[in-house]
Amino acid sequence: METAPGLIRLEDIRKTYHLGEIDVPVLKGISLSIEKGEFVALMGSSGSGKSTLMNILGCLDRPSSGAYWFEGKNIVHLSVDERAYLRNAKMGFVFQSFNLLPRASALENVMMPLGYATTFVSDREARRRATEMLEKVGLAERLHHEPSQLSGGQQQRVAIARALINRPPVLFADEPTGNLDSKTSCEVLAMFKDLNQKDGITVILVTHDPEVARYADRLVRIADGVLVDGTAAADSDEDWEAFVKGETACASFEP
Ligand code: ADP
Ligand code: MG
Repeated sequence: METAPGLIRLEDIRKTYHLGEIDVPVLKGISLSIEKGEFVALMGSSGSGKSTLMNILGCLDRPSSGAYWFEGKNIVHLSVDERAYLRNAKMGFVFQSFNLLPRASALENVMMPLGYATTFVSDREARRRATEMLEKVGLAERLHHEPSQLSGGQQQRVAIARALINRPPVLFADEPTGNLDSKTSCEVLAMFKDLNQKDGITVILVTHDPEVARYADRLVRIADGVLVDGTAAADSDEDWEAFVKGETACASFEP
């Protein structure tokens, strides 16, 4: 089998949607490498293809063509089950819209992925781990609250705890602060920073917002389905300057 070094390597990834007779090319040849332990912001305006690219990186969708190596293995041709296995073992996801189960408690939401884990986890152990994870995100007092009884920031923290319960080496976040106020956004972003720096989790953060992108160590810009060099593209100068000059907008978050 072909191999490649690094955590993630994409080579000439293309994605075209087909709407009836019409082809809609969305990704037009993306090549990108991400190393273990990086905190990368994938930035671009609305409609530029960020979510499409993230869905491919996160094995939620397949490219139309191109190669994708994850931990050295070309995974483009994996079956649906093999991809689900890889996703569950290696990847955590956080979305703008939290995606929590409405009638389940914070604890039950966080325990959920352990039910699909490849190694058996007893209910007692699942509860213990989920409790520990909720403590880590500062929600020790909210274990039995349902999503509707939690603020947006608290719901997103439950979603982060759920994303981390299987201890994935990679965390994908697609506009994770899109539904949060600025103070709560800071808290959530500081949490990602911490997970990256203290726990060594690779974070891939998708955003259209340069303020949010500042938390990352590396900026990858996408425009109209191609990657653009952050320093070169004229229309990105302002964003790039904000990114390199900016201090993070809020001090580190203490739960
Ligand atoms: P972003 O996340 O950067 O806002 P997306 O990746 O969601 O952008 O979308 C990029 C483009 O692809 C948009 O023009 C969108 O309309 C189109 N697109 C996304 N998903 C589909 C789909 N399932 N079918 C057809 N077109 C799609
Ligand atoms: Mg999007």
